[in-house]
Amino acid sequence: MRKYVVMGVQGSGKGTQATLLCREFDLVHISVGDIFRWHVQHHTKLGAQVRRTMAAGELVGDDQVEAVVRERLQQHDWNYGFVIDGFPRNGRQAEFFLESYDIDGVIHLDLPDEEVHRRVLNRRLCSRCGMDYNLIADRPEVEGKCDVCGGELVTRADDTPEALAARLREYHGKTKPVLDIFRRKEYVVSVDARPDPDTVQRDIRQKLGL
Ligand SMILES: [Zn+2]
Repeated sequence: MRKYVVMGVQGSGKGTQATLLCREFDLVHISVGDIFRWHVQHHTKLGAQVRRTMAAGELVGDDQVEAVVRERLQQHDWNYGFVIDGFPRNGRQAEFFLESYDIDGVIHLDLPDEEVHRRVLNRRLCSRCGMDYNLIADRPEVEGKCDVCGGELVTRADDTPEALAARLREYHGKTKPVLDIFRRKEYVVSVDARPDPDTVQRDIRQKLGL
């Protein structure tokens, strides 16, 4: 059984690294953001609460997040373990998690803020089919047009330098206490998230002794 938490700022490749690790070791990828999106799309009671919270520009509360994580982990479909992403987001959630589950490691994907800016501000999205592009690594064949459907590529509304700077401040403010709690238990492996995904994955496995 292997139980990991992956932490990193947006654009650090958390989803990609979690997916690669899960595929190799038959782990279940638990993305708290995806679970919330599922509830919103399927109009559950929780989805309605989450929608209201986000419409007010607030973060989903600790109680809701903990309930979602507890419920998801109680499904016990993770015979070989899991990689959880998007949780814990603050010190209180970290304490809850440590009280409830024994974990094997916390993967911290370390990406300097200027690299986050470069990656995030180069993201584009097809306005028609939703396909993701990245002007650094994943350029469309025709500038400004989707390779799949020819739709116009746009920037996400919240991918402005100002909005990103605010998200980074929030991230650092909340994540540092979480990392400090995990570091005291010697769970954290920090990995340089700047190289290509395969290199980052090799580094993760080596540091976790896999
Ligand atoms: Zn498209």
